[in-house]
Amino acid sequence: MRTHESTRKLARRIELGTATIRSATVSFRSGRWFVSFSVKIDRDDPPPQQPDSAVGVDLGIKSLAVLSTGEVVPNPRRLELAQRELRRLQRQASRRTGPDKRTKQKPSKRWRKTQARIAKLHAEIANARRDGLHKLSTRLVAEHGAVVLEDLNVRGMMSNRRLARHVAGVGMGELRRQVEYTAAWRGVHTHVASRWYPSSKTCSGCGVVKTKLRLSERVYQCEHCGMVLDRDLNAARNLTALVERDTSSASCVVRLNEPAGNPRKPTPGGNGYRHGKAHAGQRQRSNAPTR
Ligand SMILES: [Zn+2]
Repeated sequence: MRTHESTRKLARRIELGTATIRSATVSFRSGRWFVSFSVKIDRDDPPPQQPDSAVGVDLGIKSLAVLSTGEVVPNPRRLELAQRELRRLQRQASRRTGPDKRTKQKPSKRWRKTQARIAKLHAEIANARRDGLHKLSTRLVAEHGAVVLEDLNVRGMMSNRRLARHVAGVGMGELRRQVEYTAAWRGVHTHVASRWYPSSKTCSGCGVVKTKLRLSERVYQCEHCGMVLDRDLNAARNLTALVERDTSSASCVVRLNEPAGNPRKPTPGGNGYRHGKAHAGQRQRSNAPTR
């Protein structure tokens, strides 16, 4: 079978006898075919380059993340482009005739067309973001002996209407999942800060905690010691301090990756109109051979 992405690494491991394929699942998700293998594998990942260092990660809104080392990890370029295109399509949809329950207005063909494009783009954005997070988590675990993340209230954030916070929160859940299983392979500690730990409000210089910090304040200014620091960098440094203060305590959480079974089937989202449209497209494409 020909695949779009290389299976060379897996093929070589099977030739060498360090991996055996248990099963394969073929699925179709938002316009693409996937094959996933369940593999039994002997991993021997090298330990992190700097086993004694800890890194704090604060997921950003403008950038993908800010690390306590001062590094700002930019968003993948594909993500930025897709987000701009999404805004354009949403403007376009608002100019077209959508459904209205009160007036029994049926959506126009052109409205449905735009909705289908929006749905496709949403999937692309999620893919680009996940890819960026995968690259970040791999690098964090390869370099540092401890990774500190925030336990963000992802569900609480979902109800927040502000898209940017929502996206950052969802990313944190995904990053945590990725870091936890890759960290276990290399013996790296993962520390998840309590959801109530005031990482943004605390001064990373003197430890004074502010009572209030608006989301619009992008720079942290300490009235106590006069420190001025980028907000996200200040938060990332506070997170790092959590493990540097007590590396001996049993607060480090290392969980082994447990296979979550087969990936959940995508639920047909949105309203019934888009649903019907998408299915017509899927049926056509499902006759095409797997790439
Ligand atoms: Zn201070």
